[in-house]
Amino acid sequence: MITQNTALFTIFGATGDLAHRKLYPSLFRLYKKGFIKDNFAVIGTARRDWSDEHFREVVLDSIKDLIEDKEDAVSFAAHFYYIAHNVNDSEHYVKLKVLSESLDAKYSLSGNRIFYLAMSPEFFGIIAEKLKEQKLITEDGFNRLIIEKPFGRDFESADALNTKLRKSFDENQIFRIDHYLGKEMVQNISAVRFSNMIFESLWNNKYIDNVQITLSETVGVEERGAYYDNNGALRDMVQNHILQIVALLVMEPPLSLQGEDVRSEKIKALRSLRLYKTPEEVNRNFIRAQYAGNPAKALQAYREEPNVDPASSTETFVAGKILVDNFRWKGVPFYIRTGKQMASKETYIHIQFKHVSMNIFPTEGVDEIAEPNVLTIHVSPLEGFSLRLNAKRVGQGTEMKNIRMHHIYDEETQANSPEAYERLLLDCLNGDPTNFSHWDEVAQSWHFVDEIRKVWDAQEDCTDTLFAYESHSMGPKESDALLEQDGFSWTEFNWSQSYKEKQENE
Ligand code: NAP
Repeated sequence: MITQNTALFTIFGATGDLAHRKLYPSLFRLYKKGFIKDNFAVIGTARRDWSDEHFREVVLDSIKDLIEDKEDAVSFAAHFYYIAHNVNDSEHYVKLKVLSESLDAKYSLSGNRIFYLAMSPEFFGIIAEKLKEQKLITEDGFNRLIIEKPFGRDFESADALNTKLRKSFDENQIFRIDHYLGKEMVQNISAVRFSNMIFESLWNNKYIDNVQITLSETVGVEERGAYYDNNGALRDMVQNHILQIVALLVMEPPLSLQGEDVRSEKIKALRSLRLYKTPEEVNRNFIRAQYAGNPAKALQAYREEPNVDPASSTETFVAGKILVDNFRWKGVPFYIRTGKQMASKETYIHIQFKHVSMNIFPTEGVDEIAEPNVLTIHVSPLEGFSLRLNAKRVGQGTEMKNIRMHHIYDEETQANSPEAYERLLLDCLNGDPTNFSHWDEVAQSWHFVDEIRKVWDAQEDCTDTLFAYESHSMGPKESDALLEQDGFSWTEFNWSQSYKEKQENE
């Protein structure tokens, strides 16, 4: 059943990229589905001097691909108001308050407010402070603050930011976005684990050999060179998205799927990750690299990108081995890798099970041998699961064939499935914190990442620890060596490609 929600959204950074590409389309989808209808309004703020009319045109442009009924889209855009506002200027909050109160009355919004900070993190603290100081936080309705990533650049800065936010908002009013937590298949991890006896009963170190998580991108840093060069893949991808996925894979079954129950298990999971403290431990378990370009494909090396220091040691690729020191996972490596300018844009998780204790099937003079079972969770662009099994090849003899059983959502289902931002905005409207990062999760993730960063940052000469990889490859050979030293290898089966080919041939 669809319940109509009531709220005033104030979007800081309304003229920016995120608002245009993600927020307005997501709000429109919620509108089309009836989750917001009559009792909502949106105030867009930024420094640019836009009129309401111009803002509405921008909003209509951002949703043009979703419009089926022009009149409906225009009615939606009529709920949008714009006010030029410099977030550092107290006077501007006074005007914002007047507009907020008038819209509250006009649309009967019951004092419910969602403040979305789609801006550079340097402004998060000041906005939260001014919202309280200038009394934009209401007494009667709910007040929720949505914060974009990155949340700090290490534990210390994240803690300082959190302390500032907490002067104006309680923890249960702060919704820290990690858009991976809004993805269908990330949310599905718990469904696969906790509703299937065949997986639930095997989800431990007795039956799982290793876990491999890949978040690969084909693009380079593009116009974000300055931001990226100051952060790198460890901060940009591992601290948040990858550790959140690890927590969901590692956590114990929660008492329920309610926010508090899931969060407390995730926090325990993150606390059980082994911290690597010495340079030897870090170098043995984590490697970093930069893309070196690919002249054949006219791809530039990272250090040649605009706004990147030509002597930069910032990593565009990270691979690592994460160990979980608890009863369930002791001894099972979780290998992770992420990078820019890699061979494919894909996110997937391989759960590799232990092999049978004795292989009685042929291993020589045959094309395929029995391989360990692998459960793959395809997060994007494919969404679904596949399971690698062994079967006998048709015909005489006992030659084996590796087969894949799969459940991949078809294009129509994927197209109709809510976007990550749409889900998260609705969760926030409903006051459901499950798919947002709690401060304790953020803090623990920074503790893990900071130890690695500390060792890397102390290496003045990183010729031996910062590797290069050819652009549009799956990373440097040192990433392969990380698994080979444990007797494993990355499972490179390109399922998306073969699935696409199979579909095209049918
Ligand atoms: P952006 O395109 O650079 O937008 C920044 C916004 O901030 C603009 O609307 C800008 O508008 C406004 N602004 C800057 N200084 C201001 C000031 N003093 N007072 C008021 N407004 C000011 O950035 P973005 O890509 O949308 O990213 C926003 C946030 O989302 C960042 O934290 C980013 O890391 C995060 N994020 C973005 C994406 C994405 O896909 N874009 C994805 C994940 C996370 P004016 O110039 O008109 O003031």
